[in-house]
Amino acid sequence: MSNSILIRGGRIIDPSQGMDATGDLLIRDGVVAALKAGGGLPAPAGTPVVDARGLIVTPGFVDLHAHLRQPGFEEKENIATGTRAAARGGFTTLCCMPNTEPAIDSRATIEFILATAKSAGLVRVWPIAAVTVGRQGKQLTEMAELAAAGAVAFSDDGSPVADARLMRSALAYCTRLGLPISDHCEDPVLARGVMHEGGVSSRLGLPGSPAAAEDVMVARDIMLAEVTGGRVHIAHLSTAGAVDLVRQAKAKRLPVTAEAAPHHLTLTDEWVAGGQHLTGHAGSVVHAGCGPAYDTNCKVNPPLRSKEHVEAVIEGLREGVIDAIATDHAPHTVTDKLCEFENAAYGITGLETALGSVLSLVHQSRISLPALVDRLTWGPAKIIDHAKIGIGTLRPGAPGDVAVFDPDAEWQVDAQAFASKGKNTPLHGERLRGAIVVTVFAGTLVHDARSKGKRS
Ligand SMILES: [Zn+2]
Repeated sequence: MSNSILIRGGRIIDPSQGMDATGDLLIRDGVVAALKAGGGLPAPAGTPVVDARGLIVTPGFVDLHAHLRQPGFEEKENIATGTRAAARGGFTTLCCMPNTEPAIDSRATIEFILATAKSAGLVRVWPIAAVTVGRQGKQLTEMAELAAAGAVAFSDDGSPVADARLMRSALAYCTRLGLPISDHCEDPVLARGVMHEGGVSSRLGLPGSPAAAEDVMVARDIMLAEVTGGRVHIAHLSTAGAVDLVRQAKAKRLPVTAEAAPHHLTLTDEWVAGGQHLTGHAGSVVHAGCGPAYDTNCKVNPPLRSKEHVEAVIEGLREGVIDAIATDHAPHTVTDKLCEFENAAYGITGLETALGSVLSLVHQSRISLPALVDRLTWGPAKIIDHAKIGIGTLRPGAPGDVAVFDPDAEWQVDAQAFASKGKNTPLHGERLRGAIVVTVFAGTLVHDARSKGKRS
């Protein structure tokens, strides 16, 4: 068997080295061996060739925020199914959140996840450990020990670190470790609703959470980053106010970064009212039409916001105020969502629709393709790759992680066909434009849509 793959004739976009050119890419022994604009790269005899003419070739995508649910909630997802969904979506690095059972707050749980990912997983899994023991918000975890075991960041995601004094201590501690705290920014007292507070929540008679619930926590975290020097990463940023705050923090050169999820970049709160026929899914080629009101697949935290917020988040992404697109992949069982809106679980399954969703921003000329690729690759890699193993780049010697996609291929979302156990997406039935053709992880083809019936 050949230990090489040649990806020939694609448009190679690698923002880490400012590259945007048609050419060839050779992966050998699990790493990037050579890259040649213009093509004509020689390959060892017998090397399998991926014909990428007309396709885009980029570093494998890096997701800073995925819920793989294992250990503890394997009925929703496990590391094997979650990483298969990732490979289908072009992602080769997943950072998994600690709201598992037990929470990722011990060396043993980190070792379990790393070992399971190595044996059952298709892509790289890097654990994000809890900030507080059991994510209870009372006592800090043994952060240095967790970092030594392989944690790449800390978070109590699902919840914020609500206690400002604990957050300050955690950030101060993190300055020594060099790792960021990814905070789910939400004031728990203000955020008592089940959707975004505004005209739509009033119309539907559902309790709303105001944008200010996010803004006040983002402001607090930025101030604590300033006093401690610790790195704050704003998870799933969703409001115009938060974009402004992060913009100001970056202007002051504070250690603050941010991510946004595909659904917060493309869907509005009108979707909860079943009004996608009014707003449309930005990524959709053909709208499925009017959906059901109170669709629990639209229930997510932070909630789908109004149009002004979505516009501001898109602008933040374009400017680079938002460093990364992160899926917040949150798979649930059918029964978790088959109930009244107020009782339904929060979350959207996202790994397999991420690219098709966010490419809509390129198709609408809201962001350039190289900038979008940056937010999927080099942007997040810079935040998380502390060991500098070279993810998110195609520089020679970097891991052979590659996504090859067709930006114009149209396909209809069929949640039942997902590799993820989570079928909870409001995009079921929508047509998206842009599809992954091939995903290579560490030199191995982990997804190949060219061979029908042989999908990973
Ligand atoms: Zn969260």
